[in-house]
Amino acid sequence: MLYYKFSDYLVKTYHEKVYKIPVNIPVNCPNRDGTISVEGCVFCGDEGAGFETLSPDIPVREQLKRNIGYIGEKYGAKKYIAYFQNYTNTYCPAEQFREYLLQAVMDDVVALYVSTRPDCLGNEYLEIMSEIQGGRNVDIVVEIGLQSVNNRTLSTLNRGHTVADFIDSVLRAKRYGLKTCAHMITDIPMDSIDDVIEGARILSALDVDQVKCHSLYILKDTKLGEWYSKGLFKPLDKTEFIERTIMFLEYLSKDIVIQRLIGRAPEERCLFCNWNTSWWKIVGEIEDIMKQQNRYQGKKARFGLKPLPEG
Ligand code: SF4
Repeated sequence: MLYYKFSDYLVKTYHEKVYKIPVNIPVNCPNRDGTISVEGCVFCGDEGAGFETLSPDIPVREQLKRNIGYIGEKYGAKKYIAYFQNYTNTYCPAEQFREYLLQAVMDDVVALYVSTRPDCLGNEYLEIMSEIQGGRNVDIVVEIGLQSVNNRTLSTLNRGHTVADFIDSVLRAKRYGLKTCAHMITDIPMDSIDDVIEGARILSALDVDQVKCHSLYILKDTKLGEWYSKGLFKPLDKTEFIERTIMFLEYLSKDIVIQRLIGRAPEERCLFCNWNTSWWKIVGEIEDIMKQQNRYQGKKARFGLKPLPEG
């Protein structure tokens, strides 16, 4: 196995193919509304991270019904994940948050995935997720944005949180019995390859359950787009991205599920995205190199919660 693919994990866990359906709720982000900053992360566009969602004005259950109706018919799908994707989904009153999640608990939805910032995961919200997970027989995974384990990089990206915030959020989510997924960008030019490796080591030591890797795309009308247009920012080349991603996998515990290796964004909104190459071709290149060079996830990993060998 080159790496632990999300599709394999889903079949192993739910015994058939599972489809992730985005859900959009009316929340903002403290890094955009002035609580932390008004500028947001330098790469964040006006629509946050989600490009494929219905309006947040449509009730959660209705959004799911519409999308499930469409995807069920098109692909013969039978099981789904409700993915609260956009902005900071725990950035609303706690009881409102509970109501949104409960609307997503419905037949054939096997799991709720909730995306948020590491500094917006109060115990009250963890308790709500834990209660719903236990009482409603649905898995809940908290997706937490980290992107880099270098605090100077996080500051340059205007993330508005530090690595310690991330560590704290993962440890507390685990105490509440929730699974975690870390979002990482493997080709941030301000990061060195050592930062990328350290990222894999930290996630392994923390025993996070899943990782979603992104490539750094540059959207129009963002601070990063402005830097790029003025020649102040140069993305890494594709070869470097591929090498960093493989190194990241090698140092990552083999038990961590890889939700994906590369991000994607609509062409018309981008100044730069994935070297004008389809994401699946790049994934193919990564896999080919790993096979040719006998490289695989966990090859160099030393952390994780497995017992140490005797002696
Ligand atoms: S935390 Fe997410 S939603 Fe908030 S500014 Fe950053 S990328 Fe945008």
